[in-house]
Amino acid sequence: MRTVARINVAAIERNVAHIVGHVGPGTAVCAVVKADGYGHGAAPAARAAQAGGATWLAVVTAGEARALRAAGVEGRLLVLGPLGDDDVATALAADAEVVVWDRDGLERLRGQRRPAAVHVKVDTGMGRLGQRDLDEALALCDAVADDGLLCLSGAMTHFATADEPGDAFFGEQLARFERFAAVVRDRHPGVVLHAANSAATFRDPAAHFDLVRPGVAIYGLDPLQQDAAARGVEPALEWHSRLASVKPLLPGESVGYGRRWVADHETQVGTVQAGYADGVRRALGVSGAEALVRGRRVPLVGTVSMDSFGVDLGPDAAERPGDRVVLVGRDGDEHLPAEELARWIGTINYEVTCAIGARVPREYHRDGVPLDGRAAAAGVA
Ligand SMILES: *Cc1c(COP(=O)(O)O)cnc(C)c1O
Repeated sequence: MRTVARINVAAIERNVAHIVGHVGPGTAVCAVVKADGYGHGAAPAARAAQAGGATWLAVVTAGEARALRAAGVEGRLLVLGPLGDDDVATALAADAEVVVWDRDGLERLRGQRRPAAVHVKVDTGMGRLGQRDLDEALALCDAVADDGLLCLSGAMTHFATADEPGDAFFGEQLARFERFAAVVRDRHPGVVLHAANSAATFRDPAAHFDLVRPGVAIYGLDPLQQDAAARGVEPALEWHSRLASVKPLLPGESVGYGRRWVADHETQVGTVQAGYADGVRRALGVSGAEALVRGRRVPLVGTVSMDSFGVDLGPDAAERPGDRVVLVGRDGDEHLPAEELARWIGTINYEVTCAIGARVPREYHRDGVPLDGRAAAAGVA
């Protein structure tokens, strides 16, 4: 196999169990599995999260909700994103709970003329989706609660800066939501209040309320782009490939489109069987990035192509075509976390795993034991 993402569902399970323990018995956990589970696969991630103790799941689109149900995933499911008329119908048909923040959204829901569990979202400072006017948000809560078919299930907000330690805006948003939450709790007892993403879940117990919504942390990625292990979670995904060829290069010879890298010494260059169509971002080729070839750190050289990229193996390289390459993960004593790959191109770990392309097969295992009978390694490990 030319490239493969190997996902350890036991790691997702343990990460969720760790978060369940961290928030304690008064707070439930909603595992966010949008964007195909941040590239890990939505349905396997959802099942692993449930096994770890998550009692809710969240996605962004109605199509994602439908796909989860089609895969046989049960349990409480929340669609976070904005929904047009056809999307609302799809979400409700998937028995998902939905979010509204304005009268238009409420009317679209009413237009379905069927029961629906509704969360009202307030914008406490994200400046994106949600109702800015807290009085109007309360009026929306009342309108949903008074509706014969709708039921007020939750009230929520989303933080803009939970992942920026020491930043004061997080506290301001939290205070705003606390004021709103107190009134909602008083008027509508039993409504589920929720605000925290992964960063907020780790940062401040005051942000936990009735439910937390961790995404990135359940995959063992650090919301602060530092060390996942320090957060008590472990990466669930490794991304592997292979060398397609190894060839000697003389000084003055180049690798890749545009001849952007020219050898200044005699060396051996390997071609790795993954490119930007697989999610190896083109910017990596000029960023000083590295990959692990048989457990050894080597620099990427030349422009990343659609289907391959080059690595400088050095003049004494013993590597051969077919040898293992690790783009994200461990090999021997070396570790190349998604956080490091992200840093090379000025992005975040979220974008690294979300970018892993549909062309890259996902293989699932439980601490090394294949899930589906196929050899998890399929010759790549
Ligand atoms: C994506 C998302 C989350 C999860 O955020 P992480 O930073 O991945 O934990 C939580 N809530 C909402 C509304 C989201 O869109």
